[in-house]
Amino acid sequence: STPAQLPSTEELRDLAADRLRRCGVGTIGEDAAPEGTGITARTPLTGGVLYRLPAATTEEADAAVTAAEAAFREWRTVPAPRRGALVKRLGELLTEHQDDLADLVTVEAGKIRSEALGEVREMTDMCDFAVGLSRQLYGRTMACERPGHRLAETWHPLGVAGVLTAFNFPVAVWAWNTAVALVCGDPVVWKPSEQTPLTALACDALLARAIADTGAPAALHRLLLGGREIGELLADDPRIALLSATGSVRMGRQVGPRVAARFGRCLLELGGNNAAVVTPSADLDLTVRGIVFSAAGTAGQRCTTLRRLIVHEDIADRLTEKIAHAYGQLRVGNPFDAATLVGPLIGPGAHAAMDKALDAARADGGTVLTGGDRRLADLAPDAVYVRPAVVRMPAQTAIVRAETFAPILYVLTYRTFDEALALHNGVPQGLSSSIFTRDQREAERFLAADGSDCGIANVNIGTSGAEIGGAFGGEKETGGGRESGSDAWRSYMRRATNTVNYSDALPLAQGVTFG
Ligand code: NAD
Repeated sequence: STPAQLPSTEELRDLAADRLRRCGVGTIGEDAAPEGTGITARTPLTGGVLYRLPAATTEEADAAVTAAEAAFREWRTVPAPRRGALVKRLGELLTEHQDDLADLVTVEAGKIRSEALGEVREMTDMCDFAVGLSRQLYGRTMACERPGHRLAETWHPLGVAGVLTAFNFPVAVWAWNTAVALVCGDPVVWKPSEQTPLTALACDALLARAIADTGAPAALHRLLLGGREIGELLADDPRIALLSATGSVRMGRQVGPRVAARFGRCLLELGGNNAAVVTPSADLDLTVRGIVFSAAGTAGQRCTTLRRLIVHEDIADRLTEKIAHAYGQLRVGNPFDAATLVGPLIGPGAHAAMDKALDAARADGGTVLTGGDRRLADLAPDAVYVRPAVVRMPAQTAIVRAETFAPILYVLTYRTFDEALALHNGVPQGLSSSIFTRDQREAERFLAADGSDCGIANVNIGTSGAEIGGAFGGEKETGGGRESGSDAWRSYMRRATNTVNYSDALPLAQGVTFG
């Protein structure tokens, strides 16, 4: 069952224009950039072009970093709680415009309404967190071995933060970085995905308003629309003290060494290949709900999407039957329709990758149990709507070890718990993971040092849908970065260790005598 109606590209353009205007973005001509130049804002709902927008030039990118650097010199001495006032105002504006922003996320990234709104709420949650953080950028005082001395550390603003973001979280990842960077004293230069420029314009306009309302330096935020060449400029620019880059492993492989070559700081949030282990004692109904949200939600386009299911052989048939049944109920179609649970893929490239992966899985002996087929091609030939797929695999072959950014869930079986853990950790990525079990020994083992090797390890919930309070990120090819909550703020600051002598003697450390 699929909703029959899809909005037209013209209707979506009108909707986007209205929401942009409400957020304070000036009118964009339909052809702000001539064909063949600039970047193209499309909507995955129809595959149609909404706008052509000019991309930043090399000179504009350079000027943006120069302005941000000047703003840094001012902002770094503003007390952190006062920096928090800016982020507080941003949070208010994001709340005021949450429906506008959610509409834009749906139009541009194709997320269903509830998930789009969830992503916007994540931005305001992040602002709340950062405002609190602005009074808690704590350094430690350490026990000092010398009498009459104090040993402590202070945290200072780092410099301009460059932020590269992916299409699938077009606004939340910006807020993770920007809310924290601003309270830490760092201006932000943002290069969003070339696939989601409109949401970026809206966020930039709202932050500009918050900056004006609070009297902060205007150049604290600079938006650079464009493709990877703009990202490369930021990677190479020594004035970018931190480059926080979210996207594919391919991108991280290119960006990481460039930043390292100039001894810059890099925070990488790259691809995942997330798995759930399901043991015989699992509550199967809860497990199925957790699996379906994580595997089919966001049309399989989250970095934390569940891609591998590692099930005990005794329950594999029963569980896959239940999952296939639940998948049969998933409505695929117009993400603005409240009954829809699966919106479109971002574009034809994602569809081609999905088809190719399914072919490879079949060639490896896999069986497609459900889904994988295209929907609504007659209504929207340039858009890609697919039914999420479940594929039973005889082994964890090369295609299972790769991240295909589409809704494919591979099912593998295991006999011993050690075998399950070996399969679980036997991939190059290390982002998110779950275990479904009622056995405390298995749950604790999964979370232990010799359990899941991921940055996120959950029990009896799926792999996706993290809260902002924890640090977010993963190991191995996921890049090792941590963003959002906990002490992820430290990446945005520099640490100075201070030894203060308040005595009239000069004892040397380690008992060294000199002269
Ligand atoms: P992508 O790698 O194609 O692009 C991400 C960003 O990097 C874009 O802004 C792009 O313009 C830029 N970029 C690409 N190549 C570059 C280069 N060589 N130099 C400089 N900049 C470059 O990713 P995508 O298709 O937009 O997003 C999907 C991918 O992102 C998936 O792999 C997904 O797992 C990952 N992702 C990870 C996280 C996380 O937090 N770990 C979050 C969201 C998405």
